[in-house]
Amino acid sequence: MKSFTPQQFRQQFPALNETGCYLDSAATALKPQAVIAATEEFYRLSAGTVHRSQFAAARRLTERYENARGQVADLLNAADANSIIWTKGTTEAINLVAQSYLRPRLQPGDEILVSESEHHANLVPWLMVAEQTGAKVVKWPIGADRLPDMAQLPELLSPRTRLLAIGQMSNVTGGCPDLATIIPLAHAAGAKVMVDGAQGVVHCPPDVQALDIDFYAFSGHKLYGPMGIGALYGKPDLLAEMSPWQGGGKMLTTVSFDGFTPQAVPWCFEPGTPNVAGVVGLSAALEWLDGIDVAAAERWSCDLADLAEARLASLPGFRSFRNSGSSLLAFDIAGVHHSDVVTLLAESGIALRSGQHCAQPLLAALGVSGTLRASFAPYNTLSDVDALTAAMTTALTLLAD
Ligand code: PMP
Repeated sequence: MKSFTPQQFRQQFPALNETGCYLDSAATALKPQAVIAATEEFYRLSAGTVHRSQFAAARRLTERYENARGQVADLLNAADANSIIWTKGTTEAINLVAQSYLRPRLQPGDEILVSESEHHANLVPWLMVAEQTGAKVVKWPIGADRLPDMAQLPELLSPRTRLLAIGQMSNVTGGCPDLATIIPLAHAAGAKVMVDGAQGVVHCPPDVQALDIDFYAFSGHKLYGPMGIGALYGKPDLLAEMSPWQGGGKMLTTVSFDGFTPQAVPWCFEPGTPNVAGVVGLSAALEWLDGIDVAAAERWSCDLADLAEARLASLPGFRSFRNSGSSLLAFDIAGVHHSDVVTLLAESGIALRSGQHCAQPLLAALGVSGTLRASFAPYNTLSDVDALTAAMTTALTLLAD
C-alpha cells in the first residue's frame, strides 16, 4: 500500500536532525535511511566488482547491478532494460549524447536548438559539440510565462535542426514545458529530442515511450539516491547506432594494437569500474519510493511553496519567478542583493540557495543577476515555511538598517 504523511516521511531522513530547515532539495535531495542502509551494507558486506569475476559475491553484485537497470527502465516505462546506461549523473549523460550520438552526425551549418531556460548542463555540451563540428546552437527564447515560447517553435525548427535540447522542469522557475506537444513537432522537422530530467524525474517520471523521447537523462542524487550515479535512457535503435565515447576496460570484446571491438549496448558505454555502490543506493531509493504515494508527496511540497509564496508576497519589493504548481520558489527583493539575504538566512539556520543556479541565459532573460531559491520537498513542513518567512523578515530589517 502506498502512503504519504509528511511526519512519517520526514522520519526517514536523519540529516534533517543536523540541517534543520533544508530548502535546497532542487540542488540535491536528502537521503532516506533505506539508501543509507543499502550503501553501508554494500561497503560492509559486498566483495568484488561487477562483470569481471566468477566468485559468488561478485556474481551476486553483477545481478544487483543489472536488476537495477530494470528498475530504472520501469520508472521511465522504457521497454528494454538495456536502453538504460549508467552515468555519473545528468551532466555526463548529456555529454555522452553530445559526443557519441550527435558529434559524428553534425555537419557545418547544422543546428542544435536549445531552450533558453536550460541549466548549463543542457547547454554547454551542445556549445562544445558545435565548436567541434562547425554546427551552431540556436536559442529557443522563453515567453512571458517563462516557458520556451511555443509560438516560435515551428519557425525555429529548420531542416538543419539535428537535435532539440529541452528540460523537463526548470531548476529556477519550476516550469514544465509541454513535452507532449513539443516532441512531435521536433520529430516532424527531423530532429531528435534530448530531455534533461534532472529536476523533473522526482516530480513526475516520464513515460519515455508514450512521449516518444529519444534521450532522457537524470541524476540519482535528486531522487533521494547517492551522488555520482545517474542514468541515460536512449531509444534502442539510436543507442545501437552510436559508437562509444570513452574507452577502457570491459567496454570491448576484443582489443589489439590494430583496434577494438565494442561490447554490446549498454556495456560499451560503461568503461572502467562502475559506481556499483551508487547503483545499489539508487536501487534502494527506487524500491523505497515504490512504497510512497508520490502524487500526495508532490502535492504537499507544492502546497508549501504556494504558502511560502503567499506569505513572502507581503514583503516590500518581493518578486516571484515561480511557475505555478511547482515546488520551487525563486524570488528576489527589489533593492537588496540576494547574496546578502542568503548569508543572513544561513545565520538563521535556513539552508537555501542564491545566485544564478547554473542557468545564466535564463537569468539574463529574466533580467536579474541572481535570485534566491527555496525548493520544497515532501519532508518539509509548515514550520519550515514559518522559519523562512520569519528569517526573511529579520534579514530585510537588518539590511534596511
Ligand atoms: N539539469 C538541471 C535542470 C539541474 O537542475 C541539474 C542539477 N542542478 C543538472 C542538469 C545537472 O545535474 P548533475 O549536476 O547531477 O549532473
